[in-house]
Amino acid sequence: DDQERQEVWTNIKDALFNDHIDQFRAEFLELHPYDQARIFEDLDKEIRMQIYTYLSPEEVADVMEHIDYDEIEPFFTEMEPTFAAQVFAEMSTDDAVDILNELDKDKVASFLTIMDDDAADEIKDLLHYEEKTAGSIMTTEFVVVKAGMTIKEAMVHLRTEAPDAETIYYTYVINEDKRLVGVISLRDLIISEEEWLISDVMNERVVSVSVGEDQEEVARMVRDYDFLALPVVDFQDHLLGIITVDDIMDVMEEEASDDYSKLAAVSDVDSPDDNAFA
Ligand code: ATP
Ligand code: MG
Repeated sequence: DDQERQEVWTNIKDALFNDHIDQFRAEFLELHPYDQARIFEDLDKEIRMQIYTYLSPEEVADVMEHIDYDEIEPFFTEMEPTFAAQVFAEMSTDDAVDILNELDKDKVASFLTIMDDDAADEIKDLLHYEEKTAGSIMTTEFVVVKAGMTIKEAMVHLRTEAPDAETIYYTYVINEDKRLVGVISLRDLIISEEEWLISDVMNERVVSVSVGEDQEEVARMVRDYDFLALPVVDFQDHLLGIITVDDIMDVMEEEASDDYSKLAAVSDVDSPDDNAFA
């Protein structure tokens, strides 16, 4: 409630003012990143720069994912470039790409240069997909197993992948050619016997979308099939990414406001900015 909020606010400001890192971290990290982002928006640049030194890139990434991307430019301008690059590397790739598309081209290039190669490569690939396609909204943090693994092996693998995966609810199954051949839900995994094979329990009729598919069509499929995520494949059925239901909610909001602008024939309602790499 309001009073509690006020108290948290006071404690956070107090910790910042007195340079009490531990107290700040204890209070701030207790909040949901959505609420952390609201605090960030209210603070002066100098204070935010102080906060960047108190938090890890991963912690700042969580906050940035909840800032309105239209207003995010100043935050990444005020950060140390190396720190900013680390923040991008810690974000889920779909969010990193959405934000990078809002920034100045040269700045994007410099972040990608600083970033370590693996992270930069994944992001570069995603930046090339055309706006409003499945490829432009997917994320590359998904969990895959091989069809020949046992349930036990798959669970061990899932446990190591879980911290960074966008969702652990579906594990996708690929064959030797890296083609998508099945899917298995966490529920299915948990209720199976450890020595069973993935190929015995997986669902082979995988519903997927191709990478160039229009995002509106993807949204319709997620709604119709009721899945929490859909896999995205290339023309040879190689798994490239997944689209989760929370991203679909953003798409529906965007499409609704696009339709509204058209309907109202308003030209200067904020239309999505041009893709920085288009
Ligand atoms: P259920 O609703 O059957 O009890 P659940 O609640 O565990 O299962 P759901 O998210 O409802 O899981 O998914 C239902 C089933 O659909 C799961 O068995 C899952 O393996 C399968 N599934 C998930 N994604 C896909 C997909 N892209 N294509 C086909 N099947 C999928
Ligand atoms: Mg279900």
